[in-house]
Amino acid sequence: CGIVAYVGHQNASEIILKGLKRLEYRGYDSAGIALMNDNVLNVYKKQGKVSELEAFLKDKNTKSTIGIGHTRWATHGAPSDENAHPHFSESGDLAIIHNGIIENYSSLKTELENKGYTFKSETDSEVFINFIEDIYKNNDGTLEEAVRLALTKVIGAYAIVIMSTNHPNQLIAARKGSPLVIGVGKNEFFLASDATPIVEYTNEVIYVNDYEIALIKDGEITIRDTKDVKTTPYIQKVDMELEAIE
Ligand code: GLU
Repeated sequence: CGIVAYVGHQNASEIILKGLKRLEYRGYDSAGIALMNDNVLNVYKKQGKVSELEAFLKDKNTKSTIGIGHTRWATHGAPSDENAHPHFSESGDLAIIHNGIIENYSSLKTELENKGYTFKSETDSEVFINFIEDIYKNNDGTLEEAVRLALTKVIGAYAIVIMSTNHPNQLIAARKGSPLVIGVGKNEFFLASDATPIVEYTNEVIYVNDYEIALIKDGEITIRDTKDVKTTPYIQKVDMELEAIE
């Protein structure tokens, strides 16, 4: 029910965990985070509180300047460690966080199962990332294009952020029906469900519109819609007072 992601030069896990705490008011049953180091993508996820995830991460190597984090409010599959986000694709190259519901996930799942895909969770979100991977594998285009094609075929609501082991300085985000805000820093970007995880780092934000896909790559952001038309990001200034959080 909440998403936070970061790419830049700071410690991603600290920013993400703090951001997930700011989003706790939205309600959730589990929390998770994916971080990348030397092109190795690690996912840590737990049913329960963000503070429990934080404790679980204490003895792990969380050094990373890119990451995605999620608090889940289960819609498909019971609350559990397995069903918590982020979810990997079959190859292990892609990880996704997803807020919302993919309504046609069951037909997509059958289609993917017939092609040999297997699933570790009961979520619609794991189907979503494998659907994207399948399109990516069977086309010559970029990952961003595969995401765009996938979005023209899924029915439902989503705010998503995807990271890839093949693109260690890149995040792809998109939304339809679920909120997504991008904070623009100096060679760094903060993504979240609302501005509260962002404003202590930057007051410049982009409210992503429905059907928009943001590609954040090497310190630059490009936004296109699902028809592949480039849009000019509208950067707004936000002014917000926040309570301190440990
Ligand atoms: N539909 C997804 C799931 O059940 C995402 C739920 C959410 O928005 O947290 O895992």
